[in-house]
Amino acid sequence: MPIYEYKCKKCCHCFEKLVFKDDNVKIVCPKCENDNVQKLLSATRFINNTGLTSCADSPKSFS
Ligand SMILES: [Zn+2]
Repeated sequence: MPIYEYKCKKCCHCFEKLVFKDDNVKIVCPKCENDNVQKLLSATRFINNTGLTSCADSPKSFS
């Protein structure tokens, strides 16, 4: 059961979600309930390891 990381495109809130079947679930931001979210895969963890804790520092080229 993979845990994916998402970033809300509306409020930039980052959150983790346990996903069973990727394509069948609707991911919404737990903060503003917007469904326009971006999957970050493992990128956020990698960035966190560098000491940068804010998801706002995610590379813009990552899609
Ligand atoms: Zn949000």
